[in-house]
Amino acid sequence: MKAIFFEKHGGNEVLQYGDRPEPQAGPGEVRIAIRAAALNHLDLFVRNGIPDVPLPQIPGADGAGVVDAVGSGVEGFSPGDRVLLQPGLYCNACEFCRKGEQSLCVRFGIVGEHVAGTFAEKIVVPARNVFPIPAHFSFEQGAAFPLVYQTAWRMIVGRAAVRAGETVLIHGAAGGVGGAAVEIALLAGARVFATTSGEEKARRLKEAGAEAVIDYTKEDVAKSVRTITGRRGVDVVVDSVGEKTWMSSLQAVVKGGRIVTCGATSGPNPKEEIRLIFWKHISILGSTMANDHEFRALLSAVAAGRLTPRIDRVFPLREASEAYRRLEEGKQHGKIVLAVSEAQPGWPDGD
Ligand SMILES: [Zn+2]
Repeated sequence: MKAIFFEKHGGNEVLQYGDRPEPQAGPGEVRIAIRAAALNHLDLFVRNGIPDVPLPQIPGADGAGVVDAVGSGVEGFSPGDRVLLQPGLYCNACEFCRKGEQSLCVRFGIVGEHVAGTFAEKIVVPARNVFPIPAHFSFEQGAAFPLVYQTAWRMIVGRAAVRAGETVLIHGAAGGVGGAAVEIALLAGARVFATTSGEEKARRLKEAGAEAVIDYTKEDVAKSVRTITGRRGVDVVVDSVGEKTWMSSLQAVVKGGRIVTCGATSGPNPKEEIRLIFWKHISILGSTMANDHEFRALLSAVAAGRLTPRIDRVFPLREASEAYRRLEEGKQHGKIVLAVSEAQPGWPDGD
């Protein structure tokens, strides 16, 4: 089968397009013929080199396609079913899985990081990671939301438990997780303040429903939040940026407020101010991916049309390095998608 893969870590020069052995579905597994796959920042980290990535590796966490084969013991799926995959892998047996907290699994992994990913014509995953695509969704849309939307869903709904009328500051709101967080916070009835850079991204965030947009290249974010909120601060801060934003998160949150973090795209070791944390009674909440219950709730919201993942551009699989370049340049609005196999990009064709 054709796939994107790399044999050593590095920049886009390590990405190869070529033939890889076709995976076989074992007991409890489903093989999916991928039609569309979506890029995430995770793919850049995996290509650059993080621990535990097996080599050679096929990257890609998000994907959608049709069921191609099912292993023994799999019920509920037949060849030809239109499906998407939930990229968080869990053992289903440990203490945390038994409690329903699959993203805390002691053997937790992510498709495309710890096992072969979606930038290939075929992939095998456990049947519990496979879900039907909402009927009105294209393969591209089915591939575009699982990783970033489940991350944002757990942050907003599961961890910060945002309530209607609360104020939420979202750093890097034009990014994948940030954009999903804006949509989900609005769905929860919150008032959303977003940070970004540049007028075009600010305009799009206003259109998406952000009450205020702060340009972090021109304004002191914490100061602007104090002005907007009458010196009070926001109830919740969503911070996936890390070093560049952490101090402003501590300053911008209200007394007794919550800061929820799922990542550190600008670096993991920010300047810290412990006095702010205890004096303001700040709750700091960590979050990664989502549990099975949260993913199913997200899928229901998506299927009901209450959340709409945006597609930026679709590239053919063989041009994956162009797609990586676009992601690294940060110019995209919405998800960058790869069209896999001969299938043409587009809407469901009923097969
Ligand atoms: Zn487990």
